[in-house]
Amino acid sequence: MAQINVLSKDTIDKIAAGEVVERPASVVKELLENAIDAGATVITVEIKEGGISLIRVTDNGSGIDKSEVPKAFLRHATSKINTVEDLLHIVSLGFRGEALSSIAAVSKLELITKTKNELTGIRYSIEGGLEKEAEEVGAPDGTTILVRNLFFNTPVRKKFLKQPQTEGGYVSDLMEHMAMSNPGVSFKYINNGQTRFYTSGNGNLQEIIYRIYGKDISSSLIPVDISESGIHMSGFIGKPEINRANRSFEIYFVNGRFIKSGIIGKAIEEGYKKYVMQHKFPFVVLHLQIDSQEMDVNVHPTKMEVRFTNQMKLYDFISEHITKSLHETELIPAVILEE
Ligand code: ADP
Ligand code: MG
Repeated sequence: MAQINVLSKDTIDKIAAGEVVERPASVVKELLENAIDAGATVITVEIKEGGISLIRVTDNGSGIDKSEVPKAFLRHATSKINTVEDLLHIVSLGFRGEALSSIAAVSKLELITKTKNELTGIRYSIEGGLEKEAEEVGAPDGTTILVRNLFFNTPVRKKFLKQPQTEGGYVSDLMEHMAMSNPGVSFKYINNGQTRFYTSGNGNLQEIIYRIYGKDISSSLIPVDISESGIHMSGFIGKPEINRANRSFEIYFVNGRFIKSGIIGKAIEEGYKKYVMQHKFPFVVLHLQIDSQEMDVNVHPTKMEVRFTNQMKLYDFISEHITKSLHETELIPAVILEE
């Protein structure tokens, strides 16, 4: 029988990192979630070469206390939960304490952070999971994280990345979703030195949809805002004339989290059943709020999948209210709609 080896910390960390960090867009997602969890209202994201050579995320959130910084890079180190009971009502986007340690294991990372309560901040650098430098510096309140040379020490993973332009496209998609899921946060997104988009953070979702998708779409939307039996659904559903050729415009957030859910996707399409032709798909941007105890987000390391305790209730709520809103709009004479 082969000998059984206990893997080294370095090997364990690289394996674990692979589950969270698949590509530059996954790094940006984790850093944005951290910024939002830290209460940031202004976030700037800059990438170079699709995020492979550089990702920089700057936020004006709480910052991390100097003394806590090395701890933040340990695996399973989090300020967001403490016990398994806390998993029952997660209100933050992060909770697994895996992102910073995973990203640091496969890149050259630098963090500059300062809390409101401290006079000075800290600049901390870590490469391939090994601490390089820590020095006291002057810094604004908040956090900046620079991630350079992603996968420099995991060549196989690096080989599976696509061309920088394609990787940059994934980051752009993510930025759009993040902006739409947080209309109250001002985002600036810079790709290879060019500002790609900017949102004001004034809370107006339709304005963000306009900036991302343009006038034809943003002027053909039906607002929805419904609360019933513990579920709240708000946002916009597209009029049937702007139906799309694929599903990538069925955009929904549950408790602020962009997820993919078979049940929600089906409910949306069921709601539109009478209003879409075959091989066409609706345009929707919907925010759903449900009791955090009715949803399990601890399904997968990337947190893109969730489970609902009462799927059928959610399904019926979404499909029925979409059909109702489409039907009511149909009854209003077109002249009034043009107003
Ligand atoms: P998680 O988000 O699951 O808690 P992370 O590895 O992403 O785990 O982050 C570890 C901890 O570092 C967080 O719990 C938080 O306390 C702190 N942290 C990370 N990023 C930021 C940030 N941008 N602002 C303030 N604190 C942060
Ligand atoms: Mg996190």
